[in-house]
Amino acid sequence: ADNSHSKIEDNPKILSGPVLTNSPNAVLSKTLLGRYYDLPLPEDRILATYIWIDGTGEHLRCKDRTLNFIPKAPKDLPIWNFDGSSTGQSDGHNSDTFLYPRALYKDPFRRGNHILVMCDTYKYNMEPTETNHRLKCQDAYDKCKEDEPWFGIEQEYILLDSDLRPFGWPPGGFPPPQGPYYCGVGANKVFARDLVEAHYRCCLFAGIPICGTNAEVMPSQWEFQVGPSVGVNAADDLWVARYLLHRLAEEYGVIVSFDPKPVQDWNGSGAHTNFSTKKMREENGIIEIEKAIDKLSKVHMKHIRVYDPRGGKDNERRLTGLHETASINDFSAGVANRGSSIRIPRSVAVDKKGYLEDRRPASNCDPYAVVDALMRTCILNE
Ligand code: ADP
Ligand code: MN
Ligand code: MN
Ligand code: MN
Ligand code: MN
Repeated sequence: ADNSHSKIEDNPKILSGPVLTNSPNAVLSKTLLGRYYDLPLPEDRILATYIWIDGTGEHLRCKDRTLNFIPKAPKDLPIWNFDGSSTGQSDGHNSDTFLYPRALYKDPFRRGNHILVMCDTYKYNMEPTETNHRLKCQDAYDKCKEDEPWFGIEQEYILLDSDLRPFGWPPGGFPPPQGPYYCGVGANKVFARDLVEAHYRCCLFAGIPICGTNAEVMPSQWEFQVGPSVGVNAADDLWVARYLLHRLAEEYGVIVSFDPKPVQDWNGSGAHTNFSTKKMREENGIIEIEKAIDKLSKVHMKHIRVYDPRGGKDNERRLTGLHETASINDFSAGVANRGSSIRIPRSVAVDKKGYLEDRRPASNCDPYAVVDALMRTCILNE
């Protein structure tokens, strides 16, 4: 890692946006709600939080409703709507935008039979909205189900204070250079571990297969890994894991940023996407892995365009060739190489079977678009 320092003023990304000196949430009582959580609700009432991706393709919205039955599957739930003109998803004179329930999770905040509902969005004429990449992803998965595509996504992120600077960083300056923070232990190395722990537990309770977590290279930067999950479900799982993280951070009065390069000259944040098919996981699956890498090498820029919400613009800041990344302009692959676009983990090379790691997706990518692109290039040969 290289540790050159620039001035904090050189980081417009951190300094832009609505700045509060102190999040009001940080000072609210953390125990008061306990008094009301115990209130018995009418027995046949279920609270459902509908969650969706807004017009930025990057941020989430949610709203709640009461049901009078326990839904078993997404199709049991009512289609709902919202004001798309307030989320960048329609204009004001035709603003009703539809929410289609797609995946159910247990609600770790309300517990009981209460649920979280991941939805995708449709315009007044039932066309998918511009940021609905789920529909296409489901279609790709339906066409390659027999190949059993699995995805495991490593979600990196950073916590910000309400002034939008990294949480716990010294006012107006930088912490000592990166080195001791990655997988660090100790109050001067890692910040907000209790939030990370709460998130881990909430995800597992909800039904999201979190398989690990670790502190990352920048202080207040963390990672969690989801999966392996099958096809489009991997992306549902990651979006709801992101929702839970935002929702928990709300309580702590800190802000989660999935920006792929929050601080210049320090490691950025990615969403490494680990991918395998049934054949790749079988004896000598390395041959299939190499075939997939060959296909990926031919459509590098096509993938870069869908690996962040701004057609590659966000990843331009991150994929510089430094800080454990490959240049955005070149495709490369290698065993155990963290400076390449695609890495074959050492253990996979030794076993001659397993999975590949696509290191290019940005931390703020839409996993529906990433999973879709990988299935279409590597399995469907599109
Ligand atoms: P790294 O060494 O790149 O930091 P991590 O341990 O953070 O690796 O993440 C490994 C990821 O690989 C996890 O998300 C896990 O679910 C995923 N994974 C493991 N096996 C497979 C597989 N066969 N197919 C797809 N993903 C897999
Ligand atoms: Mn209203
Ligand atoms: Mn990792
Ligand atoms: Mn990492
Ligand atoms: Mn990785």
